Amino acid sequence: MELLIKNLSKTYPNGVRALNDISLTIPHGMFGLLGPNGAGKSTLMRTISTLQDADSGSIMLDDINVLEDKQTIRERLGYLPQDFGLYPRINAEVMLDHIAQMKGIGKKSERKVLVESLLQKVNLFKDRKKGLGTFSGGMRQRFGIAQALVGNPSLIIVDEPTAGLDPSERNRFYNLLSEIGENTIVILSTHIVEDVNTLCSNMAIICQGEVLMQCKPKEGIATVQGKIYKKAINKDELDSYRNDYQVISTKLIEGRLSLRIQADTDPGNGFEATPADLEDVYFSNISKKVDPITI
Ligand code: ADP
Repeated sequence: MELLIKNLSKTYPNGVRALNDISLTIPHGMFGLLGPNGAGKSTLMRTISTLQDADSGSIMLDDINVLEDKQTIRERLGYLPQDFGLYPRINAEVMLDHIAQMKGIGKKSERKVLVESLLQKVNLFKDRKKGLGTFSGGMRQRFGIAQALVGNPSLIIVDEPTAGLDPSERNRFYNLLSEIGENTIVILSTHIVEDVNTLCSNMAIICQGEVLMQCKPKEGIATVQGKIYKKAINKDELDSYRNDYQVISTKLIEGRLSLRIQADTDPGNGFEATPADLEDVYFSNISKKVDPITI
């Protein structure tokens, strides 16, 4: 199974070009779509989910034309949007049953088995009688996964799923997603590099509506390995360092600024060579388009 996106473009009526000739090949497994806010991730996710149209280009899921054959795709799609609306007073079991009914599972007994197994899978069975409004962020996201899995989708789209989750909730959510990813295409859209590093076997970095890189995380890291140097400086020295070096990221550690730069040769001046990580790949790429310090 493969999702093939070719030359996809979209300009909103206000003139913003959210997708600028996007081409991506997405195999089965977890695919991370990484980009800063405003990169065009949600626009791309909504287009793949048939919720909005592109101006030009094509999307094929094997032999299904996603942009034309919307009904077929909707039957094979699970979507967990960023702002997942919940009915606060309805309990999890009733809501899932309702969603299953909407997705065309007519038989009550069949739905009962399905709803129970999904609630077990996302570890919400014991909470099934609770109103959705009482759920924590992590529970909401796990419920979101359960509803996205109704109908056994072959393509699952998850938009910014870990924002607002605490570390243990995030871990549980990671485990759940990685189990699902084995037999389906799961596209995980996020600006959190760690999500992609932990979960995804393939990834792309997009920025300002363009694909800057498509790779496996390890291949991405190999492109900057041996070129990353770090140094702790005072905050007021940042501007002068930015003039002299290709600064790709900064982090405040104990009141000092830890600077990471990219350079083909050892810059000296107190810089120390350091192993590259996926965050370096991300910032190195997006710094070609936007200022990585101010985003
Ligand atoms: P991301 O999900 O990566 O944050 P979006 O796809 O939401 O990016 O947005 C990409 C660009 O398109 C942004 O500049 C955003 O302001 C703009 N945009 C998104 N939706 C609309 C819309 N409905 N009308 C006009 N501009 C939009």
